[in-house]
Amino acid sequence: MAIDDQDTIAAVATPAGEGAIAIIRLSGRDAVAIADRVFEGRRRIAEMKSHTLAHGRIRSPGGKTVDEVLVSVMRAPRSYTGEDVVEVNCHGGRIAVEAVYRLLVAAGARPAEPGEFTKRAFLNGRLDLAQAEAVIDVIRAKSPKGLEVAARQLEGELSARVQGVRSEILNLLAHLQVVIDYPEEGVAELEPSEVRARIERSIEAIERLLAGADAGRVYRDGIRAAIVGRPNVGKSSILNALLGEERAIVTEIAGTTRDTIEERAVFAGVPFVLTDTAGLRETDDPVERIGVERTRAAVRGADLVIAVLDGSAPLGPEDVEVLRTVRDAGIPWIVAVNKADLPLRLSPESLRPWIERAEPVFVSARLRDGIEKLMARAAEAVIGRETGAQDAVLVTRERHRAALERASRSLADALDALSSGYTADVVGVDLQEALEALGQITGESVADEVVAEIFAQFCVGK
Ligand code: GDP
Repeated sequence: MAIDDQDTIAAVATPAGEGAIAIIRLSGRDAVAIADRVFEGRRRIAEMKSHTLAHGRIRSPGGKTVDEVLVSVMRAPRSYTGEDVVEVNCHGGRIAVEAVYRLLVAAGARPAEPGEFTKRAFLNGRLDLAQAEAVIDVIRAKSPKGLEVAARQLEGELSARVQGVRSEILNLLAHLQVVIDYPEEGVAELEPSEVRARIERSIEAIERLLAGADAGRVYRDGIRAAIVGRPNVGKSSILNALLGEERAIVTEIAGTTRDTIEERAVFAGVPFVLTDTAGLRETDDPVERIGVERTRAAVRGADLVIAVLDGSAPLGPEDVEVLRTVRDAGIPWIVAVNKADLPLRLSPESLRPWIERAEPVFVSARLRDGIEKLMARAAEAVIGRETGAQDAVLVTRERHRAALERASRSLADALDALSSGYTADVVGVDLQEALEALGQITGESVADEVVAEIFAQFCVGK
């Protein structure tokens, strides 16, 4: 569908349902003129100063008052979209909002596409692409930490880092190019060692960004943690303790939890998606199957596994199966020894072969004891120590990670070309490719379809 980028769009910017107020946004060339067609106040919106509010009424063409409103005006280019923006604050009843919105559309505004306001902000250079994506992440943040990471991206921290690397590469490329194209200018040719050093610096900067990508994704989407263990060790009880409510059914009979339970919860500012996989157990199958297949299924797609053992019993063959399967899966895992309120019968010696670096965390689901420590360790196992992640600019999107990896590969190719003694213009082709890849993050060199796809994730009115 062809969309006119200049016309005036309208959308309800607040959520559907009843509220004290609702906001209807208008943006575009005729935003002020359209709003003035339905607004009646002490003066016309056209006469209002930018970034001011006015009180008045929305009137139907027949002259009936539809609602009493506050109208604000933000003139181009100092607005969210970079265009003239008018926001109508009306009463937040469904009928009132609908009526005001319809009048604005009847007066000449076009219903906005999802994300169209932010898309215009991008097209008008108010935000780059990474910042526009951060708008979605701020709205959808699932934890305080996720919000912080998104807010920093919105402020342009990631963009600044990426631009920093881009300008380094651009500089180098320009230098190489001048020497090739204008030998008469007498610009000194760079030593290959200097070219190499500069490319290596850029690769390092990119690798630093990539190093935070796992943590970034986790802050955005949550750590997918699977709770595994043989029947009756207390997986459901731990999940309940974590969620602080009776979600999974806890019984004394092994294997009664039939469905896989998945819950979201935030610990220490980090979002988790917790799964209790007791339901994956097939009742009358041999022990071997229980341990291995159930655990394998649970572990698939998880960022982290919490292997639960019963501290009030010695380590049994089923436990060993679970531990082996988890270890072989090759993803971060921690061991929780449950029922710490009972006398310890699980010998620490028997655990030793399974726990190389980390000590197990002793918990009592019954007393809700040790649960916070368990989750702190869980977060640490995936994202490293808090302090490390805290000041880093985090890459949260797969799209960004892929672009960084492409850039890094192109730079590595440039190094290879250099080592093989290729001429500067061959090296330059690889540098171009790296620039192109980095430009996809901020939007300098991104295809229209990608832009369309990104903004399609937005809600209408944003
Ligand atoms: P699951 O099969 O691994 O999900 O285990 P459940 O959560 O259903 O618990 C099995 C049994 O162990 C139940 O009788 C629980 O009450 C008991 N249990 C669970 N956690 C604890 C704990 O921390 N201390 C004690 N004493 N019993 C527990």
